[in-house]
Amino acid sequence: MFLSVFDVFKIGVGPSSSHTMGPMTAANRFLDLILSDEWPRPSSGAQVASIKVSLHGSLAHTGIGHGTGRAVVLGLMGEQPDSVDPDKMDGIIDGVERSGRITPPGHPAYQFQPKVDLVFDKKQPLPGHANGMSFSAFDRDGRMLLRRIYYSVGGGFVVTDTELEGMRTKKKASSDLAKVPYPFSSAKQMLDMAARSGLSIAQMKRANEESHRSREELDEGLDRIWAAMRSCIERGLKVDGIMPGGLNVRRRARAIHDKLQEEWRSNRINPLLANDWLSVYAMAVNEENAAGGRVVTAPTNGAAGVIPATIRYYEHFHDDWDQKGIRDYLLTAAAIGGIIKHNASISGAEVGCQGEVGSAAAMAAAGLAAVMGGTAEQIENAAEIALEHHLGMSCDPVAGLVQVPCIERNALGAVKAVTAASLAIKGDGRHFVPLDACIETMRQTGHDMSEKYKETSTGGLAVNVVEC
Ligand code: SF4
Repeated sequence: MFLSVFDVFKIGVGPSSSHTMGPMTAANRFLDLILSDEWPRPSSGAQVASIKVSLHGSLAHTGIGHGTGRAVVLGLMGEQPDSVDPDKMDGIIDGVERSGRITPPGHPAYQFQPKVDLVFDKKQPLPGHANGMSFSAFDRDGRMLLRRIYYSVGGGFVVTDTELEGMRTKKKASSDLAKVPYPFSSAKQMLDMAARSGLSIAQMKRANEESHRSREELDEGLDRIWAAMRSCIERGLKVDGIMPGGLNVRRRARAIHDKLQEEWRSNRINPLLANDWLSVYAMAVNEENAAGGRVVTAPTNGAAGVIPATIRYYEHFHDDWDQKGIRDYLLTAAAIGGIIKHNASISGAEVGCQGEVGSAAAMAAAGLAAVMGGTAEQIENAAEIALEHHLGMSCDPVAGLVQVPCIERNALGAVKAVTAASLAIKGDGRHFVPLDACIETMRQTGHDMSEKYKETSTGGLAVNVVEC
C-alpha cells in the first residue's frame, strides 16, 4: 500500500496510537457507518437507539492503562484524535457517564453507559489481530441492527476485518503502489530505483507524495508536523509533577533540561553532551504522551519521542540545518517506515517494542543520514544498523501504562539512531546485513514472541516490577 508521509506522521493525542488514537478513529468510523447506506435497514423502520462496544486481546489487557475506554467514549462523541482538546476530554467523559447517553454531532442521542456498555473482554481475542474491537448498534427493543469489527493495527491505523484481509493478500497494496512514480515496497527496490533515477530517497518519496497533492500542500503539511513535534518537546520541557495512571512516576525532562542549561551557561565540559540533549528531548515528548497531551505518531505514540529528538538534535548540533533538511528528513524517515510497515509491523501488540522504538530508530537514523549528506546506500545502512540493534525487544509496559520502560526507551532509541547514522556515514554504504533481511528477521521474531511480551502486560517488567 502507498503509505503517505501523513499516514506515518499523524497529529493526535497520547498515550497510545494503537490503544488511544485507533479506538477513537474506529468509534468515528462506526458513527459514519450508522448514517451511511452501507447496511440493510430493517423493514420495520426501527432506528438505532443504543450502542455497545467490546475490546479484545491487547486492547482488553492494557486498555485501561492506555486510556482505550476514554478514547472510545470520546470517539463516540464525534471527537477526532487530531482535533480533540486535551483540556476538555475529562469534562466530555464525565458528561457521558452522568447522562448515560452519547450525543455525536449530526446524530440523535444514543444510550451508552460506559460502565455497562463498554466491555474489556480479556478472554476472547478476535481472530484477525491482537487489537480487536466490536461495535454494535441496537434498536429500542434491544434487537441488534448492525455489528462491525475493527482492528487497530498500529500507528493509529484502523481497518475492518475485510480490509485487513485485503492488506494481507497485498492485492490492494500492489494496485495502490502502481499509482506512484517510484513504487518501492522493499529496501532493495528503493535502492535500485534510486540508482536508476539518480534521485535521493527524499526526492523519490517527494515525487510519490506530489502525485497525490501539490508541492505547497506537501511542504505546508511537513512543516506542520515538525511544528507539532517541536511544540510537544517545548511543552514537555516546561512541565513537571507526577504522570497520571497510578504508578506515581515523576516527570524528569524539565529537571534534566534545567541542569543541561546550567551546564551550558557555565561552560562546563560534558563529554556526553549530545546524548544528554537527545535523551531530554525524547523524554519530554514521551512524558507529554503519557500525560495524554498532543503528540505526533512517529511511527506510533509509544515511540513518538525518537524522531522529534533527533530532528531537534539536528537543529541544535548541526550548523547547516535548514527547513529543507527537516522536510527531507521527514520524507526519508517516512520512506523507511512505509517499507517496515509493509513487510513487517510497527505495532507493539504484533511484534513487540522492536516494531515501535526499533522502527522509530531506523527511520530516525535514515532521516539523519540523509541530512548529513548520505547516499541511498548509506541511508539504508543507517536504518539497518538502528533496527538490527533493537531486534528481539519485547513490549512489557508496567501497569499497561506507556511510561516504564517506554519513556527512557525512546531516549535510548534516539541515541542509537544518531550512532547508527554516524557509523553509516563513515562507511561507504556496503554492509553485511541488508535492511530487508533485518525487517524480515523482526517480523519472524515478533511472530515467534510469546503473547506475554506483546503489549499485554502479562510478562517481563510488567510482572517483575513491584508497583508502589
Ligand atoms: S514497551 Fe515499547 S511497544 Fe510497548 S508500549 Fe512501550 S514504547 Fe510501545
